[in-house]
Amino acid sequence: MGVSIRFLGGTGTVTGSKYLIEYGGQRLLVDCGLFQGYKQLRLRNREPLPVAPDQIGAVLFTHAHIDHSGYFPLLAREGFTGRAWCTPATRDLLHVMLPDSGHLQEEEAEYANRKGFGKHQPALPLYTVEDARRSLKRLHTARLHERFEPLPGWSASFSGAGHILGAASVLLEVGGRRLLFSGDLGRPDDALMLPPEPPPAADVVLCESTYGNRLHPKEDLLAELGAALSRAAARGGTVVVPVFAVGRAQAVLLAIARLKARGELPRALPVYLDSPMAVATTELYERHLGQHRLDAAQCREMERTAQMVTSVEESKAIAQRHGPKVILSASGMATGGRVLHHLTHHLGDHRAMVVLAGYQAPGTRGAQLAAGQASLRIFGQQWPVRAEVVQLTAGSAHADAEQLMAWLRGLPKAPRRTFVTHGDMDAADALRLRIENELGWPALVPEHGSTWPA
Ligand SMILES: [Zn+2]
Repeated sequence: MGVSIRFLGGTGTVTGSKYLIEYGGQRLLVDCGLFQGYKQLRLRNREPLPVAPDQIGAVLFTHAHIDHSGYFPLLAREGFTGRAWCTPATRDLLHVMLPDSGHLQEEEAEYANRKGFGKHQPALPLYTVEDARRSLKRLHTARLHERFEPLPGWSASFSGAGHILGAASVLLEVGGRRLLFSGDLGRPDDALMLPPEPPPAADVVLCESTYGNRLHPKEDLLAELGAALSRAAARGGTVVVPVFAVGRAQAVLLAIARLKARGELPRALPVYLDSPMAVATTELYERHLGQHRLDAAQCREMERTAQMVTSVEESKAIAQRHGPKVILSASGMATGGRVLHHLTHHLGDHRAMVVLAGYQAPGTRGAQLAAGQASLRIFGQQWPVRAEVVQLTAGSAHADAEQLMAWLRGLPKAPRRTFVTHGDMDAADALRLRIENELGWPALVPEHGSTWPA
């Protein structure tokens, strides 16, 4: 039997990324993400994997986003005892993000039990903070371009993917095959992150397609955000920005810092970063200089832009403060976290504004807001939406269709097969067509659960 790839997530959706590679009776997982968004997707998190966790020898993480890492505490609790490899910055991020994810799972279950609206009684968390903490002991790091042996006879290395701090593409060499996993690719012109590195030669490529059918507009983040925030401030409104703790939070902070420095936003406009996880990850940029575009002084400028809020008391106190303000809070698609409380306070206020700063997966509250839904269900209750909703078009942390094609064109030779992953169906299929038509390479969008020879 040759090398095979089994698609256990990240196909037909941007969430749940999990690619199982098998060769010679050994198995390894590239990414170990949580499904998010539509309920039928989220329910997959509760189904057992088709392979028992103790039959998986190693895990390789492309980056720390929960849709690539958030299943790992469960994998470890259910019997995975191998090593999980990632870059040093990804390790630092996972130390913040996985326990936080456990906390969100506990909170959700507890809330469902308290309010009695959960289907199962009692509702159990998918995993706990303690499960997450324990899983961190399995992490091992490799720097970019450092070769390591995740399993006996298997060789792997990371290369920079831009996107977020620590993000990497993975090259895996096994059974005479070279398999390249793009991970999430950033854009070459990102204000915060370095451009993705050109890909190394590979026989099989798995390429993400989040924006496989779209081009980023020429609009720049500063102009777009500046216009929105000034408008809300002028009418005395509060702006709620759902942000992912890593990536969007810092990009928006950096943009606000520059807008204030240019005099395009009042210096006195209060800005809060209300997410213990975002506060912790913002500090990590200074620890990993060289892994992004900022120098130490710029990192500190970014940190100083917002009042860092970590305690629940401080978080609640924000709601009591009148006058215009900007609240950045997780999670980025309003699927959980403190941002939900801020939304319940401000959604009904016509002076307020919700700024959607990143991609909103279908089925999430963020996507419902972007679609102009008149009310939003939070904590088992409907909240009317009177606030202005602004979807930023600039500042995505993902390469657009043209940038994905440019990355693929950088391959030294045509791969034997390209799998288009990590995109909603229309985006993935649009990129597949372009790869076949413009590059003449065989490409396909794998079905969830399908197995392919590599
Ligand atoms: Zn990502």
